[in-house]
Amino acid sequence: MEVKAPESLKKPLNIPQKTLMGPGPSNASPRVMYAVGQNVLGHMHSEVFQAMDEIKEGLRYVFQTQNDLTLAISASGHAGMEAVLSNLVEPGERVLIAINGIWGIRAADMATRYVHTVTAIAGDNFTLTLLESTIEKVRPKLLFIVQGESSAGVYQPIEGLGNICHRYNCLLAVDTVASLGSVPFLADKWGVDAVYSGSQKVLGCPPGLAPISFSPRAQKVIFERKTKVPVFYWDMTELGQQWNCFNNIRPYHHTTCSNLIFGLREGLALIVEEGLENVEKRHKLCALRLYEGLQRLGLRPFVEDIHKRLPTVTSITIPEDVDWRQVIAYAMKNYNLEISGGLGPTAGKVWRIGLMGYNATPDKVDLVLKVLKEALQEAKTGSK
Ligand code: PMP
Repeated sequence: MEVKAPESLKKPLNIPQKTLMGPGPSNASPRVMYAVGQNVLGHMHSEVFQAMDEIKEGLRYVFQTQNDLTLAISASGHAGMEAVLSNLVEPGERVLIAINGIWGIRAADMATRYVHTVTAIAGDNFTLTLLESTIEKVRPKLLFIVQGESSAGVYQPIEGLGNICHRYNCLLAVDTVASLGSVPFLADKWGVDAVYSGSQKVLGCPPGLAPISFSPRAQKVIFERKTKVPVFYWDMTELGQQWNCFNNIRPYHHTTCSNLIFGLREGLALIVEEGLENVEKRHKLCALRLYEGLQRLGLRPFVEDIHKRLPTVTSITIPEDVDWRQVIAYAMKNYNLEISGGLGPTAGKVWRIGLMGYNATPDKVDLVLKVLKEALQEAKTGSK
């Protein structure tokens, strides 16, 4: 053989137990991991179809929608973003993207067509007045906005935006990867036309599935396109059939991962059992507990206005006398605990602490505060 068998693959696999308290993924619950670890089943087997149907019902509950075209894409959150853009926009059409962190920047990068952007500084959200005046000026086909900008820990209110968009014949697309389940999201009531999320945050599953839902208005736009959806894998006219959204056949589109499907089914079942309102309340209480603890440590949340803070991801301003990398390294080395740095516009400015899904519990808040306290002491003495 010219290429030798690699030595690295002859060693046993070692996966440490870690507490994931960055912006995601979060630890999945043991019940979800049990489901993921079961036998692989075929993507056309009745048990998998049944779990897919149950997932659709669970997703309609967490998105608060009656949308027929509701399913989970076989990929991570980025795929939801790409599916929204590739299904709803045709060449030459105008898209308005609200940018206040990395995810707006990413969406603008993906939307290779005629893109306009409206910008808020990292750490702030958008007022409906600013969005309306920009929509009036730009007249986009689609407004893309992020409900939970995880790079800065900012919460964006969505209520009221659907009416504004529809007044100007514009579709409303919302990224809820980092927010879904932690704050209210009412797709139908708020007039959201496209929404997607990720499995690895509040839904408490491994990464790899991106829940997505399109309103009847958006579905019509997709079916009346002049050009084909440019990406076969994200084509909702195909995926909608595989997920039986149109009550017809379930033709083979791609091989779904039965293990991830069963995992998401269990993640959604846990939310149904706890009740969505209780899940949201748990996230809020954990975030408040974290803010109080940070104050005791003399640390300041990067997002000053408490109403603009995202409960799942709290960004903390790095004090001037501290090397932020040392704090992250201390937590990982001594506690196998993940705390993250900033991303995009917040890189080097903040730490980010995630409290989501299975990890949104008071004991995890207390753990991360204890570790932060020790790490800060160590980083300060270390820097002398
Ligand atoms: N949008 C937001 C708000 C996110 O937080 C993330 C992931 N951190 C993504 C999109 C991209 O998701 P993924 O990494 O699962 O592709």
